[in-house]
Amino acid sequence: MTENPIKVLMVEDNAIHQQLIQHLMKNSRLNAHFVIAESLKEGLSRIVQENFDVVLLDLVLPDSNGITTLGKFRSAEPNLPVIILTGLDDISLAAATVELGAQDYIVKTNANTTLLSRSIHYAIERTRARSGEWDSGMFQLAQQQFLKTAQIMGLDDNIRERLLFPQKTHIVTLPFRRDEYGLVENVFGYRVQHLLTMGPTKGGIRYHQDINLGEVSALAMWMTWKCALINLPFGGAKGGVRIDPTALSRPELQRLTRRFTSEIINVIGPDKDIPAPDMGTDEQVMGWIMDTYSQHAGFTVPGVVTGKPVVLGGSLGRREATGRGLVYLIEAAAQHMNMSLDGATAVIQGFGNVGSNTARFLDEDRVKIVAVSDVTTGIYNSNGLSLKEIYKYIQDNRFLSGFPEADHVTNQELLELPCDILAPAALQNQITSTNADRIKCRLLAEGANGPTTLEADEILGEKNVFILPDVLGNAGGVTVSYFEWVQDTQNYMWTLEEINSRLHKILIDAFDRTFHRASSDKIDMRTAAMIEGINRVTEAKLLRGIFP
Ligand code: NAD
Repeated sequence: MTENPIKVLMVEDNAIHQQLIQHLMKNSRLNAHFVIAESLKEGLSRIVQENFDVVLLDLVLPDSNGITTLGKFRSAEPNLPVIILTGLDDISLAAATVELGAQDYIVKTNANTTLLSRSIHYAIERTRARSGEWDSGMFQLAQQQFLKTAQIMGLDDNIRERLLFPQKTHIVTLPFRRDEYGLVENVFGYRVQHLLTMGPTKGGIRYHQDINLGEVSALAMWMTWKCALINLPFGGAKGGVRIDPTALSRPELQRLTRRFTSEIINVIGPDKDIPAPDMGTDEQVMGWIMDTYSQHAGFTVPGVVTGKPVVLGGSLGRREATGRGLVYLIEAAAQHMNMSLDGATAVIQGFGNVGSNTARFLDEDRVKIVAVSDVTTGIYNSNGLSLKEIYKYIQDNRFLSGFPEADHVTNQELLELPCDILAPAALQNQITSTNADRIKCRLLAEGANGPTTLEADEILGEKNVFILPDVLGNAGGVTVSYFEWVQDTQNYMWTLEEINSRLHKILIDAFDRTFHRASSDKIDMRTAAMIEGINRVTEAKLLRGIFP
């Protein structure tokens, strides 16, 4: 399921052809949304008014003919990928259009669902790969947050520039075969290591259809601050594969994971760089990564990943650690805010690993969960939702869509519901300057990475919303990942009680340091948490010096 439809401008004056192409794309895995223009003039005015991902262009239109039709589009919007879809079966014309910048040339009589879907998919992929690898709102946010903090703390200029970009980035492409047909797709994968100063690098692997190098780099940078804030002996890393995981069968997921692992096998390792789950990946995916790595090594290497199943050397408590940690921190924040959790209301965006466990532990604290969501919908009941019914419904239906006994709201509406605690636990860039003034919570507990923009931070600050920033809020995951790595390295496993009590101690210590700094320096919690992390990294960097 692709959540953001691909926006296609079809410039085509023949109504039968318009319908035929749309009909063919209905059977495709791509979620294409078509806008039709019937002439060159209309097409050119459409691309000025709206953003499109790709144009399907007929060369013969009422007001234009031949290759000049393409030329007009290319000069109007050079970065917009164009696929020629024409009745003209002419190989030299095809070559000329590609030379002029068209991504593909399809003769209408040859068009079928697979051909069209692949052509559209690759036209967009190539354009992204050529121009957009670093172009990510998330990377801009991570850099601006860092620069703002550097300004406030008067960070050494040399250190500032060193930390602004990751130390190592790896882009791989891998062949991926789906179940239903024999065609092979070319898929992009990433592993980014932001900081190698503190020890091995550490960070999750995300499968999502929109990721690029910038997004993975932002996540790696946040991992650096998080590990340093918590005093873990790791630098930040992150990885990902640009694919929609919800559209993959289990065999597909396994094949993709094993091939991706073998592409980055020289980069990861228990002493080098240790992946973990993130959005779109889970324990099973970690198990396959561990197995693939171990097959290459010739012996079992449990410490190469964390967040794997317990029977493979995973840690007790890792699965729920991020949600559990977030709730420990909510408890600490509530105490400072004089807010009783018994009977308080909570809204949670995202009901995956982080969201569902946050809901579970808040529920144990007698917080009333009034709304949750997933990629398909949000569900709201001001009297409180039954988690038991939600788990059962998801088990049977995979997604929340169609859940009875609740009002259905969009993910954006959900964020604006009245509540005491709002926990974004899905995607980045959810609370922005456009909706921050309508956010009604008292406590914003960030389970997701990067859910709040800098402008929104300001607005929420003016409204006195207490913020548990992501680098602190979701640090429970990497903390128990660290425990798992230590247990694997020592071949000595801890009890759940030991894990939870150490997790609690470490997170509350980080909360207290952050809260104390925020209060004494009169700065917000995010800046305070980042200063804690950046100070530690700076000290280590200065002590290690520069090679050679
Ligand atoms: P997950 O894949 O288990 O769950 C993600 C949830 O978000 C799902 O319910 C999905 O349906 C929903 N979702 C996806 N797209 C959405 C959209 N556009 N709008 C609303 N909901 C959407 O992922 P997760 O591991 O729970 O990670 C969630 C967030 O927490 C991410 O930002 C991740 O980086 C962060 N995080 C995760 C961990 C961890 O241990 N898993 C640790 C730290 C931070």
